[in-house]
Amino acid sequence: MAGIKRWHTHYPDEIPLSMSYDEKPLHTFLELSAEIFPKRKALHFMGKEMSYADVLSEVKHMAGYLQSIGLQKGDRVAIMLPNCPQSVISYYAVLMAGGIVVQTNPLYKERELSYQLNDSGALFIVCLDVLFPVVAKVRRNTALEHVIVTGIKDYLPLPKNLIYPFIQRKEYKQIVDVEPSGDTHDWKTMRNNSHNYFTQVTVDPNDDLALLQYTGGTTGRPKGVMLTHFNLVANGQMCRLWFHHATPGEETVMGVLPFFHVYGMTAVMNMSIMYGYKMILMPKFDPGEVLKTIHKQKPTMFPGAPTIYIGLLHHPDLNKYDLSSIDACISGSAPLPSDVQSRFEHVTNGKLVEGYGLTETSPVTHANFVWHKRITGSIGVPWPDTDAKIMDVSSGNEAAIGDMGELAVKGPQVMHGYWNNQEETDRVMKDGWFYTGDMGYMDQNGFFYIADRKKDIIIAGGFNIYPREVEEVLYEHESVQEAVVAGIPDSYRGETVKAYIVLKSGSDDVNEGALDRFCRDRLASFKVPRVYEFRSELPKTAVGKILRRKLVEEDEKHVNTS
Ligand code: AMP
Repeated sequence: MAGIKRWHTHYPDEIPLSMSYDEKPLHTFLELSAEIFPKRKALHFMGKEMSYADVLSEVKHMAGYLQSIGLQKGDRVAIMLPNCPQSVISYYAVLMAGGIVVQTNPLYKERELSYQLNDSGALFIVCLDVLFPVVAKVRRNTALEHVIVTGIKDYLPLPKNLIYPFIQRKEYKQIVDVEPSGDTHDWKTMRNNSHNYFTQVTVDPNDDLALLQYTGGTTGRPKGVMLTHFNLVANGQMCRLWFHHATPGEETVMGVLPFFHVYGMTAVMNMSIMYGYKMILMPKFDPGEVLKTIHKQKPTMFPGAPTIYIGLLHHPDLNKYDLSSIDACISGSAPLPSDVQSRFEHVTNGKLVEGYGLTETSPVTHANFVWHKRITGSIGVPWPDTDAKIMDVSSGNEAAIGDMGELAVKGPQVMHGYWNNQEETDRVMKDGWFYTGDMGYMDQNGFFYIADRKKDIIIAGGFNIYPREVEEVLYEHESVQEAVVAGIPDSYRGETVKAYIVLKSGSDDVNEGALDRFCRDRLASFKVPRVYEFRSELPKTAVGKILRRKLVEEDEKHVNTS
């Protein structure tokens, strides 16, 4: 990497500025971990554990099965699963068989699913039995040739698998019965078939895609981000380096972030598989269950998002559980409020630092050091081999230190482009730099700060207002549990600031007037919200990011129909 950058002076001895990356396909790391730690538990799922040797054996078996039903190198295979053993097994099996994974969100409705299947041209899908009805409805309008169906029950230990309500399984069977057979496959049958010999496929890690990861659904049509094996391996190696106290084969990682989002996929699943860590798979975020599981299973690492940590801190039984096993956490996806950081560190006695990334960058590009310098409110410094700059939006030149502009990044984790979308690719990629669409600045020390998405900036009466700054003030109010701020149309100022608030329980007496006074004491008046809406919850993405755009769209719809 050319040139010494400001942030390099803060790198501790344990973290090199540049390193060599293993130019190997991602799935070969599973083979390596199974060779070094065959008996080490790889997965923990609702009380049942699987060793690395077991996982590899099932992955090879499934890879052979996929090839036997026609999977060719480069074919796209959709996975529609929450975190469970099958989500890990399917992902690595598709890669081993030479396919490209297309992660889909289990919450997708027909329209979203069929768009993604058609755009990616997926020929195969692996889905949960309870999601089969959605797949069954869309499959005729897509190129799908094979559907592999599995159930949570398939990997539950006794007696949980007996008491699991198989009413859902029955529902799926009824639908399967009316479908033409041959192209719908049952996971259990696949697992019991002893003739699945897989043929090794040659994969070029630099050029061959491992993943098409869809993004941008909240702001227009989702685009398929093309990530190669090398992109994912490089980011997995960087994650491991950042958690440099972690010992291969010994750590246990909390898997609350969904693996169908790139953040959980890299920072939990791939990093764990690459370094022989045990993963605790949580199929959904239930704060009480997560606390109980931490108490019992003693994870050491816990990558998450602010709303996940907030959800745990607000649980009424928080103090009943021992969370002290947790040593290191990186929070990404959204700004980490400083009181959440300090309170979570207090209850765990571990470290929680803020990081940053996007789907287009596999995802992580920046983080604060876990055991070294950190700055609250900053996303930290660029990771090894990662370069970053702030671009002045009007002049197109690099901005001065401290000045606001668009963050651009370059590094081995940056995508190859958007699938079948050269126009969008050209818009965001320039000379190897990826323009993130996030506005921010860099300080004297080379630490970066994110203000907001370029398109979320509110322009009220000619002033630029960064929602995050207003949200931070609202979060300081003792009665506010969650806050998000957005611009809404205003006939006089062009836009005006609206705050959507979830109050902490027992704070129902706090009203608009109280929050207005609080904000006026802390913000210039043009930034103070003019409209408040109190809600019992806010819409969120799969990783718990609050969907600001969705709230605005709901408001717009309301205005148009009233
Ligand atoms: P995604 O592609 O779904 O991972 O979303 C990426 C977006 O999340 C970025 O472009 C940012 O807008 C936002 N983001 C990620 N990390 C942070 C952070 N630490 N602070 C503020 N925004 C963040």
